[in-house]
Amino acid sequence: MVDEKIEVIHMSAAKKKKILIVVMDGLGDRSCTALNGSTPLQYTSTPNLDWFTENGCAGIMDVIAPGVGPGSDTAHLALLGYDPYKVYKGRGPFEAAGIGLVGKKGDVAFRCNFSTVNENYEITDRRAGRVKAPETTELIKALSGIVIDGIEILVKEGTEHRAALILRGKGLDPNVTDADPHDLGKVAISKGRTKEAEFTASVVNRFVKLSYEMMKDHPVNAERRKKGLPEANILLPRGAGSFPDIIPFHEKNNMTAACVAGVGMIKGISEICGLDIIDLPKECTGGLDTDMIKKAEIALKTIEKYDFVLMNIKAPDISGHDGRPDEKCSVIRRLDEMAGYLKKNMSVDMVIAFTADHCTPIEVGDHSGDPVPLTIFTKTMIKDKATKFSESGCAEGKIGRIRGKDLLPMCMDLANRSEKFGA
Ligand code: ZN
Ligand code: ZN
Repeated sequence: MVDEKIEVIHMSAAKKKKILIVVMDGLGDRSCTALNGSTPLQYTSTPNLDWFTENGCAGIMDVIAPGVGPGSDTAHLALLGYDPYKVYKGRGPFEAAGIGLVGKKGDVAFRCNFSTVNENYEITDRRAGRVKAPETTELIKALSGIVIDGIEILVKEGTEHRAALILRGKGLDPNVTDADPHDLGKVAISKGRTKEAEFTASVVNRFVKLSYEMMKDHPVNAERRKKGLPEANILLPRGAGSFPDIIPFHEKNNMTAACVAGVGMIKGISEICGLDIIDLPKECTGGLDTDMIKKAEIALKTIEKYDFVLMNIKAPDISGHDGRPDEKCSVIRRLDEMAGYLKKNMSVDMVIAFTADHCTPIEVGDHSGDPVPLTIFTKTMIKDKATKFSESGCAEGKIGRIRGKDLLPMCMDLANRSEKFGA
């Protein structure tokens, strides 16, 4: 019998909440000798992340599948609710999008290196002495507007010696081998893995040759020769992939969505999925020196206008790759301050999830297949027994062990946005 004094709530249309997913890149870890066998999260005091865990629900998450070490690209696709095994068609399109070269269905994209070849066309330096902008920017200009056999060529410089290439036109097939031979002394050549892909391989090979012809005598290289530096005289494409035929996030989930991230690749993935990319001030760098509080402030401003916001902070991944336990712990302290800022300043009613896209254990120095910690908080949820935000602490929670692609549906349900399955 319901107490008469308790007001009856008529739930004909439960109020929809907003959703904020905070991805602390590479945050999860393994036990670490330098930290007396603790993980950086276990070792560091995180009162604010713990508050969310205590007042919300926790679990652990295999972002792709148990034992699979995710790339940041496939992981973010999963966190955005896509099945990475269905939509991920090679690294090229995501790398290209990451540097601002967003293609469309039918395009074939590659990541490239500026490299050095000798007069016999053999590779002598795969990174052309780590050439970078503004030299690469100048060299790329020499390659603009090329069309080969009716295929439009789009090319753009990336960070350091990297670049991206998009082929656009009819009859393309991504099933080609890397033109980059990956070894010194070898000659660049791409081959079709199937008969249908031979045309694409021939376009790639002609592009590689053209890149050599147009860059070898470029003033930038004349200058590098003078300085005794390896010339950036060829572009070597690899990692061919077709642009995924993705149902845009807002159509699939009926939510307006935006991405708050400093790293090009995360912005690229989000853009491919149809999220709006929020411009960040220069203090939000995507590096270790990023201003996390500023980023949180922008995320909160963004969520006033959008139903869904994906926020990525890259810093913990960097300390994991660098194998720096002290640095990872200090990054975690800053992440916790950021969580404190969110706790204090969340004004709209939202579902907020704190998690990672993968573990980057310090003693591995790369991504691993360990599950990541997860905490979901919203005002109206039933608390569980988990109290500490860490790999082991979150494992105590009632969410249990889920896959990355299940996170978004769970958040949507808590946000009163999921559709009923059945009558
Ligand atoms: Zn990552
Ligand atoms: Zn990483």
